[in-house]
Amino acid sequence: MKMTYESLQTYLTANNAILVAVSKTKPIETIQELYDKGQRIFGENRVQEMAEKYDALPKDIAWHMIGHLQKNKVKYMGHFVSMIHSVDNLKLAEVINKEAAKHDRVIDILLQIKIANEDTKSGWDYKDLRQTVADKKLGHYQNIRIRGLMGMATFTDNKQQVGAEFASLKRYYDELSSRSNLAHFDTLSMGMSGDYELAVEYGSNMVRIGSLLFGAR
Ligand SMILES: *Cc1c(COP(=O)(O)O)cnc(C)c1O
Repeated sequence: MKMTYESLQTYLTANNAILVAVSKTKPIETIQELYDKGQRIFGENRVQEMAEKYDALPKDIAWHMIGHLQKNKVKYMGHFVSMIHSVDNLKLAEVINKEAAKHDRVIDILLQIKIANEDTKSGWDYKDLRQTVADKKLGHYQNIRIRGLMGMATFTDNKQQVGAEFASLKRYYDELSSRSNLAHFDTLSMGMSGDYELAVEYGSNMVRIGSLLFGAR
């Protein structure tokens, strides 16, 4: 199933949600086509692939890293990555801060929370994150800006379950937003091709959509 870029944008704009076009595995030409229609935010889940695409494509693209990230890979994108959605531990935040400082940049990050009922999805346990924030261990970095939360729902047709998972992520987001030491909190990244409407209903303001736009991978 595919949807036109225009109709997806119309829907998202009406609902105040930002589109991250997930271009992983897709070639440069496909990305350029969407760029020519006006899209400027693209998401990738592998650092090397993203770096190659960054080199080949217009420099006003905002590249978002959405995939699980190892600390030793951060250096390959520190000079250009715009936002990292998949920050799931303190040490990683620290490394991103250090790399951003090397390039005299500020990198936006989202804290990925584990909301799915699956062992395969990574992310913070919310209670651990809440404690980390309460201990003021995340507020003092100069070169990262903690912009919000990201989560992936369980891969299932059960809308009730997915809705409940999105609802809890929204609740966590609201709770952390009200904390004063996270000043830049404004982004809730949830929803993909199969569940973005439900996600938007539950308060998402950033969706990560690949196959719906580009076709199956
Ligand atoms: C691949 C991916 C997406 C997009 O998935 P689609 O179902 O193709 O829209 C969104 N988020 C993450 C983290 C992904 O890895």
